[in-house]
Amino acid sequence: MAKIDPGADVRIPDRAQRLKGLGVSRGVGKGTVVFLPSPAKSQLKDHLDDNDVNKEIQRFHSALESAKQQLLQLSRETDEEDHHSAAEIFSVQLLILESGFGGNVENMIREKRVNAEWAVNSVFGELYSKQSSVANENFREKYLDIDDVAVRLRRAIRGRRTAVHLGPNAVVVARELRPSAVIELSRFNPAGLITEIGGWTSHMSILAREFRLPMVTGIKDPESLLAPGEIVVVDGNTGEILLDHELHVVGKRPSAQDTSSLRHRNYAAPVMTRDAVKCVIKANAEDPEAYRQAEAMGARGVGLYRSELLVTQDGALPDEETQTKAYSEMASAAGEAGVCIRTFDISPEQLGNNADCVPRNPALGLRAIRSALSEPDSFSEQVRAILRASQTGKIDIILPMISNIEEIRRAKSLIFEIKAGMADGERPDRDPRIGVMIEVPSTVLTAPQIARHVDFFCLGTNDLVQYLLAVDRDDDSVADWYQTLNPAVISAIKIVLDASAAAGIPTIMCGEMAGSLFYLPVLVGLGAREFSVNTTSIEPIRNLLSGISASDAALLVSNIQTCETAGEIEERLREYYQKHWKDLFPTGLLSSRIL
Ligand code: PEP
Ligand code: MG
Repeated sequence: MAKIDPGADVRIPDRAQRLKGLGVSRGVGKGTVVFLPSPAKSQLKDHLDDNDVNKEIQRFHSALESAKQQLLQLSRETDEEDHHSAAEIFSVQLLILESGFGGNVENMIREKRVNAEWAVNSVFGELYSKQSSVANENFREKYLDIDDVAVRLRRAIRGRRTAVHLGPNAVVVARELRPSAVIELSRFNPAGLITEIGGWTSHMSILAREFRLPMVTGIKDPESLLAPGEIVVVDGNTGEILLDHELHVVGKRPSAQDTSSLRHRNYAAPVMTRDAVKCVIKANAEDPEAYRQAEAMGARGVGLYRSELLVTQDGALPDEETQTKAYSEMASAAGEAGVCIRTFDISPEQLGNNADCVPRNPALGLRAIRSALSEPDSFSEQVRAILRASQTGKIDIILPMISNIEEIRRAKSLIFEIKAGMADGERPDRDPRIGVMIEVPSTVLTAPQIARHVDFFCLGTNDLVQYLLAVDRDDDSVADWYQTLNPAVISAIKIVLDASAAAGIPTIMCGEMAGSLFYLPVLVGLGAREFSVNTTSIEPIRNLLSGISASDAALLVSNIQTCETAGEIEERLREYYQKHWKDLFPTGLLSSRIL
C-alpha cells in the first residue's frame, strides 16, 4: 500500500458532504465537474470487396505512420519539458505500435477482408483482454497503454487526432484515464482528477503526480454521485471529494518545495541522525538515468533493481545479451556503491506465451525463486548475464520470495556452478554477494538461521504485510486490512533486524514503508540503518533522518510496542511527532489518516 504525504493547507468545514476514495496525487483543487466519456470502442464491421483490400491496407499503414509520428512528437515534447515519465510512457506506446501488431492487423484485413478499424479493434482487443487479466498490478496496468494506442490508431484511421478540450478550473471525472489523456488534460491545468478505478502505481497516477494535479481514485459510480457543472473539491491529500459549494481552500497545489523542508543540501556527506548514527540511503531503480538523479539527491547505490521490469510489453523475457547490457549500464552508473539485482520476481502467467494459465492464487503460486528453480534455464541465463555484467561494476544478487533454506542452497550452488563454468574472459574476479528478500513469514521466523547462509537481507515490507496479514496488496476491497502498523508487522521487522544485527549482516529496507515519513522513525527505532527508496522519497527521508535521533526513535518504538492495534500505534506516533518533531513533517501529514 503506497502512501502519500499531504502538503496543502486546507480549511474544510465539517459539514461538507464527502465522498471517500484514495488520494494518489497530493494537493487540493476546487472546480467544476466535467465528465470525460470513455472513448467509443464499438466499430462497424465492413466486408470489403477483393479489390478494396489493398487500398484498406494502405489506409491502415498511413494511419499507423501518423500515429507513430504523433507519439514520437509527444515523447520529444514531454522530454524537452522535463516530464520524463510522460516521455517514457509515450516511448513505451511507440514500442507497442512498432512491435509487430501492425502485421497482425494487416493479415486480418487481408484474410478476413474487413475494414481497418474493425481489424485494429480485434487485434488490440485480444491483447487488451490478456493484459487486463494479468494478476500482477504493475503488468496489468499496461492494458491502458494498449487501449490508448488502439484509440489513437482508430482516430488516425478516421483522419482525426486525439484531442480533448477543457475550460478553466475543470475537475475531470472518468472511469479511468489513459496516460495520454492525462498528459493532454494537463495542458489545460485542470483543478483535479477523479476516477473510478486505478491505484497508486497506475500510469495515470504517476503522471498526475508528475504534473502536480490533485487526484483521487476509487470513487465508485461517479456518474450517480456527481453532476456535470457541480462545484467540488478534490483533496488528493486525504482522498476525499467535497461536495459543498462554500469550501475554503488555502494553498492549492503542492509546489516543488513543500514536499520537504530542504534542510540539508550537502548530499555528498553521509546521512547522520542527530545523535550521529550513520544511515545509508539507496535507490530502487532500473534505469541508469533515474539512478543518476537519485545519486544527485544523496542516494548511494541501488538497493533494489527489479529485473522483472525488463520483461517486454508482450511478456517476453529479455535474452542474455539484452540483460547483460542493461545490468552493465546500471553497474557502471552506480560505480563503487554497487547494484543489488533481484532475479525475476515473476510468475509464468505474466509471460506472453503463458497468459492463459492463470494460477488459482498467483501470489502463492509457482513464482519468483520457485519458478527459477523449477525452470533453471532462464534463471541460469539471468545469472550468466549478471556475472558477465559484474565485470563492469559491483553487482550483488537478491533472491526473491525465499521461504526456506533449501531454496537458498540450491540457488547459490547454481550461481557458483555457473560462475565456475564461465570462460576466463567472461568470469568476474569477485564473487557476487547473495542476499534474500525477507517477505514471507517463514523467513522472518527463521531469520537467525537464514542469516548464516546469506550476505544481506532485503526486507520487502510490501509483501511482508501481504503475507503476514493474509491480505492481497492489490485488492482494493481489503485495503483496510492492509495494516502497515499492525503490531505483528512491527514484531516481524524487529525479529529480522535483530537477527541481521546479531549475524553482522546488513538489512536493506526496500518496501514502500521505508519511503514514508510517517513510518520511517519506527524503522529507525527498530534498528534499521539502510533504506532503499524511490527517487522522489530520497530527499524527504534524508531530511527526516537528519532531524531525528535514533535513541529517541528507539524509545518511541518501546512505547508503541505496548499498543494492541494498528490504530493505537498510529495515534501514539501522531501524538509523539506533533509534540517533538512537528517541524520535520510536511504540513498536513500529521493531520491525515495514515492506515
Ligand atoms: C516488497 O515486497 O516490499 C518489495 C520491495 O518488492 P515488490 O514491491 O517488488 O514486491
Ligand atoms: Mg516483494
